[in-house]
Amino acid sequence: MTDVLVLGSGVAGLTAARTAADAGLSVTILTKGEMAASATRYAQGGVAAALSPGDSPALHFSDTLSAGGGLCDPEAVRVLVGEGPDRLRELMALGASFDRTGDGGAGAPLALAREGGHSLARVVHAGGDATGFEVERALVAATAGHPGVTIEEGWLALSLYTENGHVAGVMAVPPSAGSWVDGSRAGVGPVGGATAPVLVPARHVVLACGGAGQLFSVTTNPALSTGDGVAMALAAGAAVADVEFMQFHPTALHHPAMPRPLLSEALRGEGAVLRDEQGVAFMAADHPLADLAPRDVVSRAIARRLVERGLDHLWLDATGIDDFPHRFPTIWAHCRDAGLDPTRDWLPVAPAAHYLCGGVVTDVDGAASLPGLWACGEVACTGVHGANRLASNSLLEGLVFGARAADAMVGPLRAARLRESDVMTWPPDVRRPPSIDPPSADDVRGLMWRHCGLLRDGRGLDQVIARLDAWHALVRTAVQVRGTDRGLQRVRSIVTVGLMIARAALRRTESRGGHFRTDFPDRDDIKWRKHISDVQRNRDSRPSN
Ligand SMILES: Cc1cc2nc3c(=O)[nH]c(=O)nc-3n(C[C@H](O)[C@H](O)[C@H](O)COP(=O)(O)OP(=O)(O)OC[C@H]3O[C@@H](n4cnc5c(N)ncnc54)[C@H](O)[C@@H]3O)c2cc1C
Repeated sequence: MTDVLVLGSGVAGLTAARTAADAGLSVTILTKGEMAASATRYAQGGVAAALSPGDSPALHFSDTLSAGGGLCDPEAVRVLVGEGPDRLRELMALGASFDRTGDGGAGAPLALAREGGHSLARVVHAGGDATGFEVERALVAATAGHPGVTIEEGWLALSLYTENGHVAGVMAVPPSAGSWVDGSRAGVGPVGGATAPVLVPARHVVLACGGAGQLFSVTTNPALSTGDGVAMALAAGAAVADVEFMQFHPTALHHPAMPRPLLSEALRGEGAVLRDEQGVAFMAADHPLADLAPRDVVSRAIARRLVERGLDHLWLDATGIDDFPHRFPTIWAHCRDAGLDPTRDWLPVAPAAHYLCGGVVTDVDGAASLPGLWACGEVACTGVHGANRLASNSLLEGLVFGARAADAMVGPLRAARLRESDVMTWPPDVRRPPSIDPPSADDVRGLMWRHCGLLRDGRGLDQVIARLDAWHALVRTAVQVRGTDRGLQRVRSIVTVGLMIARAALRRTESRGGHFRTDFPDRDDIKWRKHISDVQRNRDSRPSN
């Protein structure tokens, strides 16, 4: 039996795996695609850390708290900003190469970019706008050759296996024969017929399964980001919180491609300006930081204008950026593929689902609320993001909390204590299913996008919940009758997590961070400066599909 079973091979899973293996634990990484398949590799802007002489963890702390809309956990943020610089230096020591100023030589100072919500330039980047690719490359190289690490690609984890209240492994589907599918909406992993799930036992299980942008029909997230980790934690009875705070990135390229190509906030950091359909630069009217306001503010400023004016996109004017192809080669290539020249053309933009701020509740060491279960990276709710993530804090979160979880596993098994301010939601009200087929993933995404997206209201959320409740029951029946295949499993994850997001969004009768209710447009600190979490107690602990 392996000591540590890590589910996922993005920045968080690889950091946890390598750190645990360095501490002498035996580690197995089980990942549903190829090793490098992750949201991590698509990260553009960079990693935020207080590294420059004019910066400090205290300033990074206050910027993170301001973006978080009053719901960040100050202790977790202190850990993030305090340990971040050293974790980043460790990553560089492992071989990750970040952009530098001047001649770019190894001794030159790091080139730092500024992004929305940061009071100064503190974002380290690689290859101009290919930071995630370099982070993933360096971590895969360091982990793949590690003698303490076994890698299992193409395995789909389905559910957590618990024994006497402890998480003691997962039920997972091994790879079946066939070709790889990655980056498409169809799925991730080897294509083939259904294969029976097997129990993979472990002393510790680390959820590092990433986010859930694929719950929405318009997203920047790759096909693998279907919220599997949150769905597994919910089903096992682990606490999940803050999922109503889905961050919508304001500037995805308005283009039929899905996932939507991202036009990083770093463009605005370098002087790009949002313009409306008449060419007016409008952000200064909405926020003192204008185009560099926090993401939720910019996304809503765009969404409001789109709705009021019956438009489907506005414009990003990046024509003033010097040496665009060199500074932003990935974005340049996306634009050229779409027939756009960013040095001459304004770029059509609209918001897209981007980042799940909430997730599996953990303490500052990554321990979830069930002994033996850990979570890190986007799947986790460490408390660092509150209601709205500060740009470029997520790669940093994976580095810091992935390593902390691994360090803590060397000690005794334990579970996170739930925050006293948590508000428990009600358990799912599963209605009797009519005898029809379960929905397609696109049915769910369309529903979520229409009624649980950037602008929400009670009526729309009621509709989402009623529909998802019925679909949830249908999916369960289908799993019981015909077993799980990859397609059904994907639908099960997105229906389960979608239902929880919609319930929390209905319950939160205010607007804050990534959650905006048109029927409750104001922030209500008296009633709602607290978290909504869901713990389904007394769950069946037997292995299940
Ligand atoms: C286009 C884009 C740009 C971004 N830019 C930035 C940026 O500049 N800076 C920043 O800080 N953040 C950025 N982000 C966010 C950041 O990339 C992610 O939050 C972060 O990489 C998440 O890392 P992770 O390790 O938690 O998950 P991921 O990197 O998503 O990895 C999840 C892993 O889990 C595996 N997995 C999932 N489900 C299962 C299952 N059921 N069984 C087995 N394996 C499973 C997946 O295959 C994958 O390997 C960006 C995101 C996107 C999409």
